[in-house]
Amino acid sequence: MTNIESPAIKVIALVAHDNMKQEMLEWATEHEIELKRHILIATGSTGKLIADNTSLTPERLRSGPLGGDQQIGARISDGGVDVLLFFWDPLEPQPHDPDIRALLRIAVVWNIPVACNRASADFIMSSPLLGAPYQRRVPKY
Ligand code: PGA
Repeated sequence: MTNIESPAIKVIALVAHDNMKQEMLEWATEHEIELKRHILIATGSTGKLIADNTSLTPERLRSGPLGGDQQIGARISDGGVDVLLFFWDPLEPQPHDPDIRALLRIAVVWNIPVACNRASADFIMSSPLLGAPYQRRVPKY
């Protein structure tokens, strides 16, 4: 194992499936001030929704089903994401299920904090670790 330092300003990745987008928008609005202190990236439609309805300006990648989940996964493996907030839909199958599984898997491999629902996202946002440098243990290959 080795350490990667997550700086005090985190890169936070935001992804929400269609049925969860309203939840993500409400959550992001509730935490807008804290989120402004960090760097945001998002899958295409999630990012557009947040950019259109808040003062936040996430970097927008491809839409999830068109490769956006894979782009976020690639950034995680390059050390470019510190936190993943992924509101996936527990009640409806998704066409890009393999990409979803891959994203969740790679986040665990690289020991990224992941929130898959609003309560977990609240806990992450209220953690003192969010605004402080953090030594993340990762596998050494
Ligand atoms: P979207 O992608 O933000 O482009 O809708 C999310 C997803 O389905 O993974």
